[in-house]
Amino acid sequence: MDRTELSSAIIQEMQVLMGEALEAVMPELLTADLATLEQRVQQVGRVILGGLVERVAAGHAQALPRPARCPACHGTLKRRERPRPLVGLVGDYTLHRAYYWCAACKRGTAPLDAALGLGPGEVSPGLARWWRGWRWTRPSRRRRSRSRRRWARR
Ligand SMILES: [Zn+2]
Repeated sequence: MDRTELSSAIIQEMQVLMGEALEAVMPELLTADLATLEQRVQQVGRVILGGLVERVAAGHAQALPRPARCPACHGTLKRRERPRPLVGLVGDYTLHRAYYWCAACKRGTAPLDAALGLGPGEVSPGLARWWRGWRWTRPSRRRRSRSRRRWARR
């Protein structure tokens, strides 16, 4: 499947996914207060966008070359599917990826992880970056209590 065909296939799948998700939640949305409405829309968005990330990542995986030999010992690599669930910035999703294992070196590699810039752990790079930024911009507990005391003296 070339890129144009892949794009069309993903768009069609997403239209179906979005339609199903909205049909399931729409009756509730029409009677919800704004707080509930926003919460439910955010939940639906995470399902839909997580599905989009999964499909685009699967498209990336299709285009990756299969490593022929172990880079360390040049031995034969054993291929297997190894799904990787992640908590992401826009949703929770699972990367369905190939994993290549060298029995001699007792090491494996997942080329999709490297292609996507994914390190270890269960959190996507985008969410990890957001989290670090949020912690930096958030006032420290000590600073917050100091400003609270200052405020109380007024
Ligand atoms: Zn090896």
